[in-house]
Amino acid sequence: MGLRLDIVAPTDDAIARAADLIRTGALVALPTETVYGLGGDATNDRAVAGIFQAKGRPQFNPLIAHVPDAAAAAQHVVWTDVAEVLAQRFWPGPLTLVLSRRADCAVSLLCSAGLDTLAVRSPSHPVAQALLRAVGRPVAAPSANRSGMVSPTQAAHVVQSLGAGVALVLDGGRCPVGVESTVIDLTAAQPTLLRPGGATREAIEAVIGPLARAPAVGTPGALHAPGQLESHYAPALPVRLDALSVADDEALLAFGPDVPGGAALTLNLSPAGDMGEAAANLFAMLRTLDRPDLRGIAVAPIPDHGLGLAINDRLRRAAAPRP
Ligand code: AMP
Ligand code: MG
Repeated sequence: MGLRLDIVAPTDDAIARAADLIRTGALVALPTETVYGLGGDATNDRAVAGIFQAKGRPQFNPLIAHVPDAAAAAQHVVWTDVAEVLAQRFWPGPLTLVLSRRADCAVSLLCSAGLDTLAVRSPSHPVAQALLRAVGRPVAAPSANRSGMVSPTQAAHVVQSLGAGVALVLDGGRCPVGVESTVIDLTAAQPTLLRPGGATREAIEAVIGPLARAPAVGTPGALHAPGQLESHYAPALPVRLDALSVADDEALLAFGPDVPGGAALTLNLSPAGDMGEAAANLFAMLRTLDRPDLRGIAVAPIPDHGLGLAINDRLRRAAAPRP
């Protein structure tokens, strides 16, 4: 069909146009500091349904409502002291809070996938901030890719992944954090880490104390954290973790200064071993290594602390058995 997505620079005019589109129920891809989001009016059932449809996302996997600040969040969820402390420290930024929906919550129930909770986040990316303020309503925005595939960290990735259904892509360049937000459930007895992400567990625990672990995948409680879908972030090629050596028909995703030789193609997440650089490179490098002429992608071991927690979470899902 040759339907081309309109990729535009995020000028004031383009942001105003994008806000108008969202307010009329259309979907717009927007840059955030984590990954590109597929944004729609979170208060509009049809727009939210359109997001699930465009992504092929299972309807039981709830969406995050994006807001410019804590005051906007508190209009829709029951704000708590812990939420306030975390927002003071991490917002705007890559931290999502799951809170109880207010009785007068205007956000579509579809966004909550039928739960009585809602995930809210205030992103720091200046384009996302400007857009949210222009829309004046919460914006539901999961990653702008087909469900289960590698997340987009550049505008071009959005175009590769999503065809029709997106009215406009605001091009904000490369996403500086590069992995999705950390998701914390504040409705449980103890704050619970549902998904590691751009805000490190260490930094969060330094503010509010120990986080509980999310229920293991496959247990009943895990339905509460449906982002725990096992296979996710998956390139077409099989992914092999903790590789210390590599075959000549494999691609290698390396990390740090010691790189095994012999791969058909090697990219290094961070030759210096910097976790922030590695997170920012992760999804773009997985895409580049995902070549049909190769047998698989071997991934070097990555330390499991700081942003490494989020990186390893994504890589484990990329390597999980496919449905
Ligand atoms: P994504 O939109 O792909 O970044 O994924 C959003 C993440 O937040 C997924 O892991 C969801 O399961 C999680 N999430 C969103 N809303 C809720 C909620 N109300 N309760 C629990 N997890 C949520
Ligand atoms: Mg996603």
